[in-house]
Amino acid sequence: MRQDPFGRQQPSPGRGRRVGGLRIGILLLFAAYGAYYYFSNRTEDPVTGQKVLIDRSLSVDDEKSLGLQAYQEILSQERPVDPSLPISQEIRGIADRLIAKVDDVEAALAAEHGMQPTRFSQTFEWEVNVIDSDQANAFCLPGGKMAVYTGLVPVAQNENAMAVVMGHEIAHALLRHGAQRMAQQRLTQVGQMAGAMSGMDPQQQQMVMAAMGYGYLLPYARKHETEADEVGLMLAAAACFDPREAVPLWERMGQSGGGESAPEFSSTHPNPGTRIQNLQALMPKALEYRERFCEQAM
Ligand SMILES: [Zn+2]
Repeated sequence: MRQDPFGRQQPSPGRGRRVGGLRIGILLLFAAYGAYYYFSNRTEDPVTGQKVLIDRSLSVDDEKSLGLQAYQEILSQERPVDPSLPISQEIRGIADRLIAKVDDVEAALAAEHGMQPTRFSQTFEWEVNVIDSDQANAFCLPGGKMAVYTGLVPVAQNENAMAVVMGHEIAHALLRHGAQRMAQQRLTQVGQMAGAMSGMDPQQQQMVMAAMGYGYLLPYARKHETEADEVGLMLAAAACFDPREAVPLWERMGQSGGGESAPEFSSTHPNPGTRIQNLQALMPKALEYRERFCEQAM
């Protein structure tokens, strides 16, 4: 063995390779677990025809109770508007019309992919509250718990546009986007753990995570937005609202969402120009859905 003048031992080449091998071994183990998790939890969503990742150990009931818990927490922190006031009744009226068309629209979209709908929203306990707030926001949690913020009313301007936003939110819950995000987070954690255990320094880890965010998680979130736009538009059209209001609505939304943005309308939302192009492309189909499912004479 070579000895340096200060008496320190040179690391022998064999040892270095062993450490490197261990690192790669750990990374491979995590990669194998990640791949196993990914492939064993993938299903096809009949409504979108897309392969999605939802943890099989998370039941619809678990998801509903998580939604309910979050809902109660939000309502206890915010200022819900008296349900007997006209604004609350109007919003509930829109919600009821949309909810009444969920089964028809799910079945029609699933049929386009040659599939049967899951009808998993059958067990939803729908509820809608109006929250007194400046935010131009709305949400629908797993299990059908919805809220519309009063700040959305002047941006929506009319019931057709309001129905487009609420349809979009309902679609997120129907498509189980929350559960999909949870599965994504699980995979991200596996990646983080692998990074930490294989001895990546925090800076390297951050770089990898940032790359994943831009390359993988963010487009994934945008895809959810695009899916919710489509399913929501079909719901609004089937419930006899005018889907063409979607275009001016998202234009107004783009203008109002300058500085502060609420969680739902954050950077995960598609670029406004792309979104409007997508909506315009969907318009013939939306009008066809209205023809088919709206019993009201136009
Ligand atoms: Zn959304």
